[in-house]
Amino acid sequence: MIFKPKRVYFENTARDYPLGKHLYDYFQGQDVEVKIIGSHNRVTGIPGKTSQQAYMEAKRTLVVGVRRTLKFSPCKPSAHYQLPISTSCTGKCEYCYLNTTLGKKPYIRVYVNVDQILDQTRKYIQGRKPELTLFEGAATSDPVPVERYTGSLKKTIQFFGDQESGRFRFVTKFTDIDSLLHAEHRGHTTFRFSLNTDRVIKDYEHDTPRAGERVEAAGKVARADYPLGFLIAPIFIYDQWEKDYLTLLQSLRETLPSNVKNISFELITHRFTARAKNRILEVFPQTTLPMEEKERKFKYGQFGYGKYIYTKEEMNDIKKFFANHIESIFPGAEIKYLV
Ligand code: SF4
Repeated sequence: MIFKPKRVYFENTARDYPLGKHLYDYFQGQDVEVKIIGSHNRVTGIPGKTSQQAYMEAKRTLVVGVRRTLKFSPCKPSAHYQLPISTSCTGKCEYCYLNTTLGKKPYIRVYVNVDQILDQTRKYIQGRKPELTLFEGAATSDPVPVERYTGSLKKTIQFFGDQESGRFRFVTKFTDIDSLLHAEHRGHTTFRFSLNTDRVIKDYEHDTPRAGERVEAAGKVARADYPLGFLIAPIFIYDQWEKDYLTLLQSLRETLPSNVKNISFELITHRFTARAKNRILEVFPQTTLPMEEKERKFKYGQFGYGKYIYTKEEMNDIKKFFANHIESIFPGAEIKYLV
């Protein structure tokens, strides 16, 4: 699944950087609209009269910019800081957390001043020494679809390979990862895949690779000796959910090398907020996502908005199912959390 943008906009100063110049020269030779713009934060010209059109067009728009804010946001509880190398993603998952945070036009942004971003990363690491500092590379994006153009993820992984006190992690649903297999990671980057059943992917995770492709890519990553993690999210209860999730875990077992170690699971059940539901209905009016408030338990959230989660009994069923099967299929694997 290869991302081919329909239009590529360059912030005017982006071409002063080698990566910006390279991308400009490359896309000028392609069949795409190329335009120079003033700022990567105020992008105009992406068409779309309705919310759906605006969303779809934005997902085919690549903006190449210079990251000015070099103050990294915290990323609790999973890491100390977010490491920003890109923003947004080419996938169109109906429940994507970015749908409510990136506005009506979630265009894809890449930053050309990677060296500056990594210098800043080094400063954060120095500041916390001798403690380890952990950075998350997928807090506001899926960094893999644009990697074939920028190479920034590989550069970041290799940067962390040289850091004694810094560690990196990111998560992806994409499988175009061959360029990362020979990066000198030295075990300092945890490569995570976001997985789900084929039914869930087909119904809700538009324009992302199928489960089998993600599992196969995870096999390659395991053979390249990366610490490997799996995010199974969102977990849904539906007719035959247990059978489907079991098939997923078994296919993972069959594909990963038998001696794979250091694998971890993060498990998140489906939940929604009133705000997310409204946004999903705007962009995906035909959605079949289960979002009936009366079928869920309401849980007050930490930031003043509540979320609708599965009932206590359903949560217990999910917990029991995953705890038992992960334990028996992957003895010794860590379940980091199940929420
Ligand atoms: Fe969002 Fe991830 Fe889907 Fe991309 S792949 S749309 S970041 S959930």
